[in-house]
Amino acid sequence: MAGRSYKTEAIVLRSFRLGEADRVLHLYTLDRGRVGAVAKGIRRTKSRFGARLEPLSHVQTILHQGRGELQTVTAVDLVRSHRAAREDPYRLGVGLVGLEAMLRLYSEQEANERAFSALARFLDLLDDSPTRAPARPSLDPLALAFQLKLLWLSGYLPHLGSCTECGSEGPVVGYSPRSGGAVCRTCAADALTLSPAGITAIDGLLRRPLAEAGAVPLSERSAREALSVITAWYEFHGGFRLRTLSA
Ligand SMILES: [Zn+2]
Repeated sequence: MAGRSYKTEAIVLRSFRLGEADRVLHLYTLDRGRVGAVAKGIRRTKSRFGARLEPLSHVQTILHQGRGELQTVTAVDLVRSHRAAREDPYRLGVGLVGLEAMLRLYSEQEANERAFSALARFLDLLDDSPTRAPARPSLDPLALAFQLKLLWLSGYLPHLGSCTECGSEGPVVGYSPRSGGAVCRTCAADALTLSPAGITAIDGLLRRPLAEAGAVPLSERSAREALSVITAWYEFHGGFRLRTLSA
């Protein structure tokens, strides 16, 4: 084969059928960021890839870059299967929110070691994360904390301590997507309303390690407020909505 092969860790974000036996994979790789690749023959019973390339799978892989846009998977070893997350519907729902956030926020073929590590950490924690059904996975503290950290890593840290419009000490009563932070009552005309507990919760989810997301005091109202800040950011700054968040 003409072209070049390289070895990298990768996490499977999404997978589509292609023809009779193949799959197209959206991978987030440690070495090159977002990569599209084809796994040939993966849907045959005797495929050498087995079930190692499901969404959420963390693998060590060899990819071949030819002339086409899609790279080719030539070898795969599992690093972590994340079966515990995949086989529980609630955890899977949380995982799919995280994968879709990665797909939308990190769509470039450009290595970002911190983003890769955050994703790997999120999935490791998800395997042992409590199932909070019947609550919606989109309101899960780990899902919210992971997305807030991705926004932070992509250069956006919501400012919560004082009013981002007029600089007053507050109290702050809302979040303005336009100014990217909290606002006081005077400046809250087109802001989302936030409760004091909601602001504290968002701040905790942002600043504490991902492993401690479940320990942040989070009422259902606070979780909804955190989610509204995240979705407002996606819509205002990214121009997109996550399908998994409206499920
Ligand atoms: Zn103000």
